[in-house]
Amino acid sequence: MATLLVQVARDQPTDQAGVLVNPAVTRGSTVLFPTVDAMQRNGQRRYDHEMIYGAMGTPIQHQLETAIAAIEGARHTQIVSSGLAACTTPLLAFLSKNGHCLIPDSVYGPTRRFANTVLRRFGVETTYYPPTIDAAGLHAAMRPNTQIVFTESPGSHTFEVQDIRMIADVAHEHGARVMLDNTWGIGVFQPFRHGVDISIQALTKYPSGHSDTIVGAVSVADEQDWHVLRDTCIQIGQLAGPDDCWLTLRGLRTMGARLEKQSCAAIDIALWLAERPEVSRVLHPALPSCPGHALWERDFTGASALFGVVFKPEYGVADMTAMIDSLTMFGLGASWGGYESLVLPTTHGITRSCPAPADDGPALRLHIGLENPNDLIADLSAGLDVLSRRTMPQD
Ligand SMILES: *Cc1c(COP(=O)(O)O)cnc(C)c1O
Repeated sequence: MATLLVQVARDQPTDQAGVLVNPAVTRGSTVLFPTVDAMQRNGQRRYDHEMIYGAMGTPIQHQLETAIAAIEGARHTQIVSSGLAACTTPLLAFLSKNGHCLIPDSVYGPTRRFANTVLRRFGVETTYYPPTIDAAGLHAAMRPNTQIVFTESPGSHTFEVQDIRMIADVAHEHGARVMLDNTWGIGVFQPFRHGVDISIQALTKYPSGHSDTIVGAVSVADEQDWHVLRDTCIQIGQLAGPDDCWLTLRGLRTMGARLEKQSCAAIDIALWLAERPEVSRVLHPALPSCPGHALWERDFTGASALFGVVFKPEYGVADMTAMIDSLTMFGLGASWGGYESLVLPTTHGITRSCPAPADDGPALRLHIGLENPNDLIADLSAGLDVLSRRTMPQD
């Protein structure tokens, strides 16, 4: 993967001319053609990354599309304006009026909001299923009008790993497409090998890697699906700006090194946290104690540096808040995948249709950046002292 990330979608020197290592970013709306005939011939080539009009994407967008398709093992990729647009655009493309969509209860919050507002308004019904559903349960949840089984693995904030192969088998048996939010699994989960039809990523996270751009990608395995997706993107005007694509393509080149370093540090810190008396559970699929570990081991070749921590129920939200406020190495903010460490409280603001275990204490999510892990552990250790000083657990 690291070699692919360095080599994919680069310009090559010719006999006549050298090239810059990174492609130039070109900006534009109007594309000029020499003749009417040339203009019309180009207009028919909307599916093969031709330059027709700026709203259909610029060369740097198409270069990024080639790179993401190679990383995901996809037939084609469409770059869109954000990770959320990568979730919503295929839902608009592949669902229709009176259709039905199955979405895991552990889904990224804004995807749920889109299903509950826009999709509902357009006559599409959504059912939320437990992310760890078994084959019998999924068969029972499928309806004759189920068009998409949405998956997200591991789940947002709660990190359940889904059995994507089983889900794909069942969905396909019922004639539905499988869509995956593969943002956590970028490069370490190969969606199309497991039967996924549509894989999306928030390139905002590790691919751009520097917390300074918002971009998304939608990838498909099938040529007909590509036409449906591409037509929809053109019809609704979905694309990403050339500067954002350029930043993302540049970020991708170092993603192998960043991901490896951040992933190792995250596992070390997760293991350290799991030993702490204040901690009830660490939600990290690479830890054998995590319920999704066996599926993660079967299907993934690595892990992101994003995981959850659930405290013991004797601690209150106010105790955890005091801990978070005391941290100096962890930025407090949304998103993740940059070079810097982040913390986010996750106890409130997570909507679940299926009830969570009642005995959980407050929870937070950590993203581990490229700082020295010892500095991060020292900061967390001081923070946990703040937490335990506030509430001495009862014997
Ligand atoms: C961040 C994120 C998104 C949305 O990406 P944006 O670029 O911030 O819109 C979608 N899905 C998951 C799992 C994410 O973490």
